[in-house]
Amino acid sequence: MNTFLPYGHQMIDDEDIAAVVQALRSDFLTTGPAVELFESDICAYTGTAHGLAVSSGTAALHAAMHALGIKEGDEVIVPAITFAATSNAVLYCGGNTVFADVEADTLLIDPQAVEAAITPRTKAIIGVDYAGQPCNWDALRRIADRHGLALVADACHAIGGEYNGRKVGTLADVTVFSFHPVKHITTGEGGMAVTNDAALAARMRAFRGHGITTTAAEREKMGGWYYEMVELGYNYRITDFQCALGSSQLKKLDGWIEIRNALATLYDAAFAGTAVAPLARRDGVRHAYHLYVVRTPERDAVFKRMRDAQIGVNVHYIPVYLHPYYRELGYAKGLCPVAEAAYAEILTLPMWAGMQRDEIERVVQLLERQ
Ligand SMILES: *Cc1c(COP(=O)(O)O)cnc(C)c1O
Repeated sequence: MNTFLPYGHQMIDDEDIAAVVQALRSDFLTTGPAVELFESDICAYTGTAHGLAVSSGTAALHAAMHALGIKEGDEVIVPAITFAATSNAVLYCGGNTVFADVEADTLLIDPQAVEAAITPRTKAIIGVDYAGQPCNWDALRRIADRHGLALVADACHAIGGEYNGRKVGTLADVTVFSFHPVKHITTGEGGMAVTNDAALAARMRAFRGHGITTTAAEREKMGGWYYEMVELGYNYRITDFQCALGSSQLKKLDGWIEIRNALATLYDAAFAGTAVAPLARRDGVRHAYHLYVVRTPERDAVFKRMRDAQIGVNVHYIPVYLHPYYRELGYAKGLCPVAEAAYAEILTLPMWAGMQRDEIERVVQLLERQ
């Protein structure tokens, strides 16, 4: 009997555990130095000026939408193929999501579809670096600049990725990462928004902490106790022991991305000339390979056969607007035909840094037995 092979799994070593224990023994369990250190570690890694660690990737998306001023009546363009949280963040702020179709070979947001979706109410575009491959950020930037739109990167799949020699994190006005255990590096739950825009960073920082803005210096002047809540924020804080784990994990990220790329190369070679078609990989990118996705005929039958054999295949994603909640908002089937056709065929294969070569062979052999 084979053991279950998940599609993704965290990697925790003794160094990570020691880092968490050290944080637990320190004076600060939250809002302490480990949070700031993790923020500056991610900023240094991505080459960005400001990082805001929060309780999840979803909270980071929400903070970004809020900081950009998304409100009722505003439209934000989001790819049809992504995790629902990308679009939900728009709705949290009262905005409307306009779904753009994806490119058939990469499932990345299609810049032409973005252009066609723009209306006088459009305020922002969220590109999703699906599976870990950066979007066509040059094209998205041109469109955003031409129409005066904000550009946001949902890079929850793509930390460590690069686009034409530029790091993911620097390609949009705000970039969002998730540290859920299935992502490249984890804090258990957690996320971060990075930006080079000091004003956006300040707005996101206030949003993370109840919308309270006074600085320590101002409090000093006003008697030491005084603070002001100036807008409706949330408690989206993350703890110091989570951030200690994040900083420890980050040291291993580049090595893990190399392993993921090597595993992808093995899969690619095995599927050459078969009916199983891996998604395309663009020139000039460092793919972070959060997911390894193929298109296969008879996807549902293949899914069942793989799961029956203890292989944790998955499907990423159901086009967001096909979920019942979105259908009730009025979105209907047929909106993004490329995404819907892809959805019928896509299968996510196991891919994580601890996978062994013989596990790749086990997946490939079972998949090819059509
Ligand atoms: C994981 C993920 C999120 C949400 O991150 P959480 O940390 O789970 O809240 C958002 N967008 C995408 C594309 C993701 O993969």
